[in-house]
Amino acid sequence: MQFHVNGFVPGDPDVHPAAPGRRRPGDPLPDTVDVLIAGSGPAGLCLAAQLARVPGIRTMLVEPKLAPMEKGQADGISVRSMEMFQAFGFGEKVMRESVWINETTFWAPGADAALARVARVQDVPDGISEMPHVLINQARVHDMFLDLMRRSPTRLEPDYGLKVVDLAIDTAAAEYPVTVTLEHTAPDREGQRATLRANYVVGCDGARSAVRGAIGGALHGDAAHQAWGVMDVLATTDFPDWRMKSFVRSKDEGILMVLPREGGHLVRLYVELDALGEHERVADRGMGAADIIAKAQRIFRPFALDVKEVVWWSIYEIGHRLTDKFDDVPAAQVATRAPRVMLAGDACHTHSPKAGQGMNVSMGDTFNLGWKLISVLTGRADAALLHSYSGERRAAAQGLVEFDHKWARVVGARSEDDAADGLPRVAREFVANLPFTCGLTIQYERSALTGAPTHQHLAAGLPIGKRFHSAPVVRLADAKPMHLGHCIEADARFRLFVFAPAGDTGGRGGAVAALCDWLEHDAASPLRRHTAPGEDVDAVIDVRAVFPQDFRALEYGAMPTLLRPRVGRYGLTDYEKVFCADTKRGEDVFALRGIDRAAGCIVVVRPDQYVGHVLPLAAREELAAYFAAILRVRT
Ligand code: FAD
Repeated sequence: MQFHVNGFVPGDPDVHPAAPGRRRPGDPLPDTVDVLIAGSGPAGLCLAAQLARVPGIRTMLVEPKLAPMEKGQADGISVRSMEMFQAFGFGEKVMRESVWINETTFWAPGADAALARVARVQDVPDGISEMPHVLINQARVHDMFLDLMRRSPTRLEPDYGLKVVDLAIDTAAAEYPVTVTLEHTAPDREGQRATLRANYVVGCDGARSAVRGAIGGALHGDAAHQAWGVMDVLATTDFPDWRMKSFVRSKDEGILMVLPREGGHLVRLYVELDALGEHERVADRGMGAADIIAKAQRIFRPFALDVKEVVWWSIYEIGHRLTDKFDDVPAAQVATRAPRVMLAGDACHTHSPKAGQGMNVSMGDTFNLGWKLISVLTGRADAALLHSYSGERRAAAQGLVEFDHKWARVVGARSEDDAADGLPRVAREFVANLPFTCGLTIQYERSALTGAPTHQHLAAGLPIGKRFHSAPVVRLADAKPMHLGHCIEADARFRLFVFAPAGDTGGRGGAVAALCDWLEHDAASPLRRHTAPGEDVDAVIDVRAVFPQDFRALEYGAMPTLLRPRVGRYGLTDYEKVFCADTKRGEDVFALRGIDRAAGCIVVVRPDQYVGHVLPLAAREELAAYFAAILRVRT
């Protein structure tokens, strides 16, 4: 991390100077805001944390509950979400506090009908990501985002005790076109209403979303007519895999999943309960924690389960549902107006918790939306950019709903489905689907944001439209071994990685220097066109170079000036733009990611860590055209 850029500041560098004029706790409700977020679940908080960084954006987050969540709901954090947490700066904290899922085991009736371990598999394939798959209470994820918001320049805090009850959009109004009706939920003010006007409203208000209802959206799909119980427990047992993620299928009592949790003692159990009738609601059964425990004990036999404390429990029915559109603009009006109201998370897609995707996909939605909203609200991009949100994320959610259907059938598969090779079908499918459950199979379709694959061969291991797969490098200026992807922060900036061709040392006459020179000085350069006067050269597009040589073979001082930019009020040098292959550890980023050594290439990475384009070093017009289709000219 970099700090002291505008002079020495003592204390915690994660606490940013507070922005003047910000709203403070206890201030009355404003008449207008730029963005109103409904709901402080993972989707709402992930969005709020991004917006909170930008002092010029007035964000408000309303939440009907009266205080932050303390326990319950989701707990699975995919490696993809961990990569995103790294960009927010709390990946390491989550790694320390969470439980890592390294191995998954499968239990089923053996030859004598007693439970036996029938398979064990590695949970995260080698080399798929530098981050682990972890489990941690959803409430702690909320805390990480809340903490970040509190330390951001706007010091953003949720407005607890307020819910959205309705909204109306004046499509003719240019400013604050969305009128939102809010209602207080605290006992002393319950039912009192207030209105405010917003430029954008994002409904992160869960499966029963009021925002979705107000824009005429509906969740379509089906229910599995199967009740499941979930509980977080402190318990003693002689089941040997209590600290492994385990699928347990009993002979006659159904199935359960064991998920070890943070802290070394807590465990979550998902327990299959009763099948439901066609028109039956799970609540009609009147089941409770005792029913979940009793069923779990029957499934676990002959192992004993003695529950000492039920920390949290819930009983639910699985539904696979999706809305038609994640914003308020009907397909017929896309050409004439930009979205003003968006939906994210459970408000627009619901699925079973068995694949552990709910929280991950919900945060993925608003990580996709955050940079787009920031770009529009700061004048970097036209509002039409917001159309891409629904297109990209609905396709991702559709993939999840389809996967969820398939996975629900696999988890319920009986012994006769077991393969001749002895590996149960559930274990085989589990392994085959790991890239999906790791959150790494999303590939955005070709669009203005996702370039044509014409030059994909130059970086075969960094597919356009997929998330940027980080790799180890050594930073040239200080010989620090690190991960290239970790220079991407959740700060709404594009990254442009320039991979140098063999023999190029960054000096004059080389391809890297020629490209950097053009990027820095030419009027047609995207840096010149899309960076506003007075902004740092890397404020919108952050250029970094990666060389195949060992760091000792290169001279930092010989690098082009764009890679040694002067920043801040003293014009201090930014030393963190140039990287080399990690030859000492034999982890060559060029080999690992299939970079063409002879030609080198440019890899454009979007602010949400997805690869936007792969281009030859000389493809200046194509590079300029890519950014011209997304960003406004601001010179
Ligand atoms: P949510 O986390 O649901 O957050 C929505 C927020 O919006 C809530 O804080 C809510 O109070 C608020 N809100 C509601 N109405 C309004 C309104 N009108 N105005 C403003 N705010 C509003 N997933 C698992 O993987 N495993 C589980 O065991 C599991 N259990 C769950 C149990 C429950 C009771 C629920 C509700 C969800 C559970 N999930 C579970 C799903 C998982 O928590 C979600 O997929 C994930 O939290 C989605 O995040 P989100 O931000 O979209 O929505």
